[in-house]
Amino acid sequence: MPDIISRLKEANIVGRGGAEFPAHQKWTAVRDAAASPKYVICNASEREPAVFKDFHILSKEPEKVFAGLKLAMKTVGAKEGIFNLNAEYAQKLKTTFDALIAKAKGEGYAIRIFEESPSYIGGEETALLNAIEGRRCEPRLRPPFPTQSGLYGCPTLIHNVETLYDAACVDDGTYDGKRFYSISGAVEHTGVFRLPASLTALQVLEETKNIPDGDFFAQLGGGASGEVFNREQIEKEKVRGAGAIVVHLNDENPRDLVRSWLEFYQRESCGKCTPCREGTYQLVRMLEDATDIPWDSMQPIFDALEKTSFCALGRSVPVPVLSYYQNVLQKK
Ligand code: SF4
Repeated sequence: MPDIISRLKEANIVGRGGAEFPAHQKWTAVRDAAASPKYVICNASEREPAVFKDFHILSKEPEKVFAGLKLAMKTVGAKEGIFNLNAEYAQKLKTTFDALIAKAKGEGYAIRIFEESPSYIGGEETALLNAIEGRRCEPRLRPPFPTQSGLYGCPTLIHNVETLYDAACVDDGTYDGKRFYSISGAVEHTGVFRLPASLTALQVLEETKNIPDGDFFAQLGGGASGEVFNREQIEKEKVRGAGAIVVHLNDENPRDLVRSWLEFYQRESCGKCTPCREGTYQLVRMLEDATDIPWDSMQPIFDALEKTSFCALGRSVPVPVLSYYQNVLQKK
């Protein structure tokens, strides 16, 4: 049988935290890195609005995620595995995790929990590395990438919960090309559903009996960074990123919706770089002072955020707002 890295490649396993980076490339880079020790981190930060599938997986099938983590540790030759859990998850999962960590220890795997302080940026790979090292939780300049110089400057494999779950499924022969969808918003059946990754967003809503009665649009990927698509577009669009679908009815107040996105980003900006720290603040202020959305005044700030932000958080601020403007408001 081919080795696990070849099988991850063949199954097209990608990062399910949002970036969709091919898993086999990360595993290969850490396995082949000359430096040591090596680390594997399972990232269960899950602080993006409307994304809640990682908690579902960890609650329902924690053994499988541990199996994926141990498989990764063994394959890349890691000294230690670390679960990054946000504080709420750590509290709810403590008993289960303590038992699974003790079991893993008996099998020769050193695994521990890192309990994250709540923040969206805490889920970003390099900000997470800083937090575990006891530094300020803000992103690092890349390169070097964590696979070469990660935790304490050592090669580090960082994967989302679902990615390690998928790796375990590939290993035990149960991987079936499905992914987890977090569905919320103006739907009847909010929840997590496991369906083929090949489905369009509309097919996912049909399969889960979540087509609203009235006209609607949807944000796909995540409730902050996801692009917004109109009804016609979701007939063709697949759900990317972290697998969230947030359904909105067409009569939703545009100013309130845009403001909720921008306030989230303002709150979660780590403050390291000026375009994001000041840009998100100014965008929220513009909405406070205006009765309509001042699109023309906001555009230069969106341009600056897109082109000059230090990390993906700042670059993603324009994504929901401008796609909503182009795909929904301009089509009305
Ligand atoms: Fe921090 Fe925002 Fe700059 Fe990213 S873009 S480093 S979150 S201030």
